[in-house]
Amino acid sequence: MDQVYRLQTRRQILKAAIGGAAGVVLGARTLRLNAARPQAPSDGNGTLRLSDDLFIVRIPGEANVIAQTGPDGVLLVDGGSAKGSDALMTAVSSLGAGGRVHTIFNTHWHPEQTGSNESLGKAGATIISHENTRLWLATDITWPWNGQRFKRLPKTAQPNKTFYTTGKLDSGVRYGYMPDAAHTDGDLYVQFPKQNVLAVGDVVSGQGWPVVDYATGGWIGGIVGGLQRLQTLVDADTRIVPARGPVLGLTDLKAQYEMYSTIYDRLTQFLNRGRGPSEAVAAKPTKEFDAQMGNPDEFVRRAFESQWAYLSPDA
Ligand SMILES: [Zn+2]
Repeated sequence: MDQVYRLQTRRQILKAAIGGAAGVVLGARTLRLNAARPQAPSDGNGTLRLSDDLFIVRIPGEANVIAQTGPDGVLLVDGGSAKGSDALMTAVSSLGAGGRVHTIFNTHWHPEQTGSNESLGKAGATIISHENTRLWLATDITWPWNGQRFKRLPKTAQPNKTFYTTGKLDSGVRYGYMPDAAHTDGDLYVQFPKQNVLAVGDVVSGQGWPVVDYATGGWIGGIVGGLQRLQTLVDADTRIVPARGPVLGLTDLKAQYEMYSTIYDRLTQFLNRGRGPSEAVAAKPTKEFDAQMGNPDEFVRRAFESQWAYLSPDA
């Protein structure tokens, strides 16, 4: 009875946060933001103004990019894929500030975030990442679950300013490492204190089930840990910008934390009973969330396998 009640409550919280109440709030916010820039199309593409000097640049098919304009030019958080880089730079030029990008953060090593590194690095930009991200970008990587290969970036495209814990720019922008390995073992956040905006890369998924990249350190326990840690960095008014999907708030973080904690508990139990990934998928450990989140099979398999590196006795 108690268990049923708890699940029910969680489901209601999630429904309210992901599909319902928060959706309305975020919808209203999006409407207001779009109203300020009537040329912005309503399909999730186009530029979204967060404040006088801070924007989310959304190129179709690309991850979110944050751009901050200032007297010295533009600062970016992530740079889209190599394929979308030209379109991104055109959009960034239209924001003013001369369009020259002086600094770019890589929230992690994935090609969807680091595709502008080469052109910006050649042009002399400062490329900031966690040291682990630089190491991944300097190495050839193959994903074991599908054989996909990623070639190391040329030296000019690799991060040229790395850190281990936290850092601060003269402009007041702060950044820090997310050591939980929610997505990779090189995740960082970027904080814009004046605008109360927090960029979180893929540490938080704003659009469906996340990619669990255990080849470079990400794991399901890290998703839970990351969602907990981020709650200490925000307040009720903070706008949280993930790499994918709409702007989120603290309520969304709390709801996601509840959901991934539940799933993590279940997957850990399967692992402890000696079950395998296919059995975990068959047991539908995400069933009460699937209506909102979509088909979970790939996520569950990968999340289960991600535990091997962290929790298996022989790890
Ligand atoms: Zn990613």
